[in-house]
Order: sequence, then C-alpha cells, then structure tokens
Amino acid sequence: MSGEQFSDPFEVQRLAMVELQLRQRGIRDERVLNAMARVPRHLFVSSEKQSRAYEDQPLEIESGQTVSQPYIVAAMLQALELKESDRVLEIGTGSGYLTAILAELAAQVFTVERQVLLHQRAKERVEQLGYRNVVFTLGDGSQGFPEHAPYDAMIVSAAAPRIPQALRDQLADPGRLIIPVGSEDTQQLLLARKNQGMERVEVLDGCRFVPLIGSQGFPV
Ligand code: SAM
Repeated sequence: MSGEQFSDPFEVQRLAMVELQLRQRGIRDERVLNAMARVPRHLFVSSEKQSRAYEDQPLEIESGQTVSQPYIVAAMLQALELKESDRVLEIGTGSGYLTAILAELAAQVFTVERQVLLHQRAKERVEQLGYRNVVFTLGDGSQGFPEHAPYDAMIVSAAAPRIPQALRDQLADPGRLIIPVGSEDTQQLLLARKNQGMERVEVLDGCRFVPLIGSQGFPV
C-alpha cells in the first residue's frame, strides 16, 4: 500500500527501535510492530532532527507540538486492537506519523488537526508516501468528525480533561476509544469500550501529552 521508493538510510535504526524500545518492552502485537518497522519516522520531523528520529523520546515538530515517543504510540495501538476492516478516527494529526501507521493497520483513517501548518504538512507527507486511505480535516477534534461517524476505533493524541461527549456519541457499537485524560500536566491513558449500549472504561498507564484544545477539551 505504501513505502519509500528509494533505499532507506534509517532502516537499521528503525528496526533497532522496534526490537529494543518496543518488543523488548512488551509490545507483542505483530501487526503494530510490522507497521512501525515500515513507517519512516525520520520523514515526519525536520531535517535537523532526522538523526534523532528513532530515539526513545518525543520530538518537537512545527507549531510547538511533538511527535509522541515510539513506545507510547505502540502501547496505545496495541491496546486499541485495530482490525484491517476498521474505520478509525484520529484526533491530533500532528506530524502525520501516527496517521501513516494507522493507514497501515486499518481500512480507513479520518484525522483531525487544529493547526493549519501541521494539517498541511502531514497531508503532504502521508500522501507522498503513497497512502490513499486517509481523510484529513482541519478543525476542533474535541468535537470529533461527525460527517464520517460512526467509527470502530478512535485514538486521541492530546490530553483532555474528560472523554469528550462528541467522541462517545460518534463511536460505533461495538467500538474502542483510547485517550489521555487528566490535567494539563499529567494524565492517565483511558481505554473506553462501547458494547450493546454500555461503556466500560479501563485505566491504563500514566502519561504526559500536550493538551487537547477545544470546546470539549482545554480552553485556548
Ligand atoms: N500523533 C501525532 C504525531 O504522530 O505526530 C502527534 C500529536 S501531538 C502530541 C498532539 C496534536 O494534537 C498537536 O498537533 C495539536 O495541535 C493537536 N490538537 C490539540 N488540540 C486539538 C483539537 N482540539 N483538535 C485537533 N487537534 C488538536
């Protein structure tokens, strides 16, 4: 479905990231590991940061935002248990790195970003890599993306004070949603499952994300 056309000088670093930072720390989902072995993370950061793209840390991107640490990306994806047939909603496109991984794992990806520069750059990168199953939009993702709802799965890469009601409403039944919830400084990852009209919320690890800014997130 995708892939770089040229030989990739970062392949060795990327495979080492998958083994040392992901597999050896308990990521067992082979689909997630394979997708992260394929997606060229260095193409989602500025050229000065490319040599650090496979380090065990978040990295700064445009507009004062970050591309998340590889391990937290993998842990969220493993918990979400995406199926090839899923329609997935991503809130907080950022660099487009996670968007590309989602495009590897699911049938269709819908992604919302509030910052115009990030939205444009991410769209360019993901399309240049050959992914054709992603719909990008600019807007307040705390309100979801109602035009294409319902979604089998949702992943939010920015921290909210609570699970936005709009996301709950746009989640399919059955459906899964993963989101960091807490204060602007520290949060817990929550995995919400909807099934036969009931919602069950599981508390996963502690984490620290940039805030979800919007009508159902934190104020600007
Ligand atoms: N997963 C992204 C990646 O792979 O680069 C990183 C996401 S970054 C941690 C969080 C993103 O959420 C930022 O790009 C930020 O602008 C965006 N964001 C914050 N509030 C938002 C909102 N209400 N709607 C959409 N995006 C939002």
